[in-house]
Amino acid sequence: MSSIPHLTLNDGHTIPQFGLGVFLMEPGETERIVSEALELGYRHIDTAAIYRNEAEVGAAIAKSGIPRDELFVTTKLWNSRQTDAHSAMRESLDKLGLDRVDLYLIHWPTPERNTFVQAWLDLEEIRSQGLATSIGVSNFMPEHLEKVLDQGSVVPAVNQIEVHPTLQQREAVAANEAHGIVTEAWSPLGRGKADDLTSPVVTGIADAVGRTPAQVLLRWHVQRGHVVFPKSSRRERLAENMRLFDFALDDAQVAALDGMEAGSRVGPDPRTFN
Ligand code: NDP
Repeated sequence: MSSIPHLTLNDGHTIPQFGLGVFLMEPGETERIVSEALELGYRHIDTAAIYRNEAEVGAAIAKSGIPRDELFVTTKLWNSRQTDAHSAMRESLDKLGLDRVDLYLIHWPTPERNTFVQAWLDLEEIRSQGLATSIGVSNFMPEHLEKVLDQGSVVPAVNQIEVHPTLQQREAVAANEAHGIVTEAWSPLGRGKADDLTSPVVTGIADAVGRTPAQVLLRWHVQRGHVVFPKSSRRERLAENMRLFDFALDDAQVAALDGMEAGSRVGPDPRTFN
């Protein structure tokens, strides 16, 4: 939708700064929710092989009739397939009913396996073959990023990491910025588990700007130049979450949100998750 800004990636392609994440959607619900989101104007969907809903995402896309080049679809290579990326990519494309994705990511580094560099070299080939327009990584800490930068020939376009005010990952964000890698913030609302949505800092700012706590959090992310794709199964929240581009937080409000760092992870630690 025209009101959603696009960011330019380091490979020259663009990405809508806002979209829909489909992790933890109830089986049998994803197609309905993605269809509703597309009706509302969402054009960017973030899925993964491990979410087991690529086929439902694909069905909603097919039924929408929206031209393929107006959509941005991301999927991810699951950990156990890091030595088998070409087959995994083909399986994901079959399920999605697409002949290419816009973005293909290594889902986790799983450093103990020691296979993510091989996976990255395979993603470079997948990109050359046109099966993924852009390629990137997810949950890569600076030491993982350094390995792919040393041994690969393509710089990842994005690094998708857990970020919300109570877990800001400043070191990883700085490493991304140093290499021209766009940060995608997963669990941008703290998945409703961390204290972000209910924090008095957030609710106070929401009252001051006449917006909801979710909109305040999402606006904080977009003002940092990050990409977000909050998940919701409720139509009214899908509509609420996309109304981010007609207001702004001032410097004091941003500083107050910046001050919420608390090390509150909702997902696994990438350095130990295998
Ligand atoms: P989010 O931070 O998007 O939070 C989702 C939760 O917030 C749900 O419980 C949802 O409930 C609730 N919610 C949504 N909108 C609102 C609102 N306006 N007000 C109040 N509550 C709201 O968490 P996710 O973990 O889903 O992260 C988003 C996406 O990031 C995922 O769907 C996935 O695409 C990606 N991701 C990637 C990971 C990775 O390893 N690369 C890991 C985890 C996520 P309800 O549905 O009932 O509205």
